[in-house]
Amino acid sequence: MAAHEGRPVSADVVQRLQAVVGPHGFLDQPADIAPYCKSWRDDWQGDVALVLRPKSTAEVAALVTICAQTGTAIVPQGGNTGLTGGSQPHADRSEVIISTARMTAVREVDLANETVTLEAGVILQQIQQLAANHNRLFPLSLGAEGSCQIGGNIATNAGGTQVIRYGNTRTLVLGLEVVLPDGRIWNGLRSLRKDNTGYDLKQLFIGGEGTLGIITAAVLRLFPMPTATATAWLAVPNPGAAVALLALMRARLGEQISAFELLQRSVIEFLITGVPGHAEPMREPHDWYVLVEVSGQGAAGSLDDPLAEALSEAMGRQWVDDAVIAASGAQAKRYWKMREDLAEAQKVAGVSIKHDVSVPVSNVPAFLKRCDAALEAAYPGIRHCAFGHVGDGNLHYNPVAPLNWDGRRFAAERSAINRIVHDLVVELGGSISAEHGIGRLRLDENEHYKSAVELDLMRTVKRALDPANIMNPGKMVRV
Ligand SMILES: Cc1cc2nc3c(=O)[nH]c(=O)nc-3n(C[C@H](O)[C@H](O)[C@H](O)COP(=O)(O)OP(=O)(O)OC[C@H]3O[C@@H](n4cnc5c(N)ncnc54)[C@H](O)[C@@H]3O)c2cc1C
Repeated sequence: MAAHEGRPVSADVVQRLQAVVGPHGFLDQPADIAPYCKSWRDDWQGDVALVLRPKSTAEVAALVTICAQTGTAIVPQGGNTGLTGGSQPHADRSEVIISTARMTAVREVDLANETVTLEAGVILQQIQQLAANHNRLFPLSLGAEGSCQIGGNIATNAGGTQVIRYGNTRTLVLGLEVVLPDGRIWNGLRSLRKDNTGYDLKQLFIGGEGTLGIITAAVLRLFPMPTATATAWLAVPNPGAAVALLALMRARLGEQISAFELLQRSVIEFLITGVPGHAEPMREPHDWYVLVEVSGQGAAGSLDDPLAEALSEAMGRQWVDDAVIAASGAQAKRYWKMREDLAEAQKVAGVSIKHDVSVPVSNVPAFLKRCDAALEAAYPGIRHCAFGHVGDGNLHYNPVAPLNWDGRRFAAERSAINRIVHDLVVELGGSISAEHGIGRLRLDENEHYKSAVELDLMRTVKRALDPANIMNPGKMVRV
């Protein structure tokens, strides 16, 4: 991969940018800047002279205008929890970070329209709470929800655990306000469910990873707060049984399935040994688990029996070996905490090669079986580690170094392992990045697998909106 090459931002430009936001709107001391420059997993590290923390869309526009005039590259940043190196700067100090952390205004709550309009820096958990305060649900839910911001969620088209029912972030956004790479403000804050007036421009910025503009505000959809929820922790004999169970549950419970997560035994072991506060979920260990949640609008407890009946039918077909239906909200929360802490557990498990892939749900069992076999043949002793949102065909497939291997030796195999995993994903009709995006981590892989036509279209869009390539250069698409 070509190294990023750029000139450090000049002192004159630094001063002009500082003047826009005033003394409380920037950080220029190395100790203050450091956390903005490294990634959550410590796998990406860059450097800048300046982190800008504007308070309003007008300030963002003024900053971007100066950057456009001076050819200064920008890294838009939300909560900095992204997992693909998209939100950290390069190391050459040629960029400035524009953080949305201080843009936290809630502009409007429209309950009749079931929408909320708010600024990009609002933390996801606060949006969930805001919705709950109005007896509504904002369904986006993921392990980083305590620190990721809605602007970052939108820019990565984040997925999470509720996609099976509510869709990913793309389906939750009705309108956007964006500062474009030339400093103009595009006000697309429409709160409409129907609007056929030309290209749906917001879709370019959703999942655009900050390469086309800075999202400053959004209109989000709200949903009725479910009044009945049932959660179960299941042991299943294999991934094929999990997929069969999903089909059966869909037939019996329809759209009420709000989460369906598959977990391999190894991730539970990493969790219990690596992250304090977790315990075995069942009396006996099992090779595979499913965490399932159903939710709806009936009386509290009204989904317990339908869930139990579906599970009993699945047990009769040998698709479920054991099942525990959470007896209380606290028990359900414990199960979900286990799921949320899996990323943390992976962090302490040692070197693993991470993949965030999707295949059609019907191909999940074949993918796991064939990929495990191919990796075992190439790397005897490799430890399997898979979990994910299997209801969406999305697996985090993160093989861990054989026990007797030095971590660095295993990390050196990253490209070879990626090739084995991603070739199979593509053969099975899947995607090499289901929800974390491309960033820098998957740039080469994306170029390897995307067709020339698709890459050309992506570059055409990038060049049209950002001809000077100042908006998050070197991320997602190389021009
Ligand atoms: C523990 C953990 C669990 C996670 N679980 C999931 C999961 O289940 N599903 C999932 O999809 N992701 C998951 N992630 C990844 C990450 O949390 C999401 O990608 C999240 O949406 C990123 O939000 P952020 O505010 O931290 O964005 P950042 O990390 O700050 O930025 C991410 C990207 O968006 C761009 N960006 C940020 N803000 C803006 C803006 N206002 N305008 C334009 N571009 C912008 C950045 O330049 C960068 O390219 C997880 C991460 C962690 C650490």
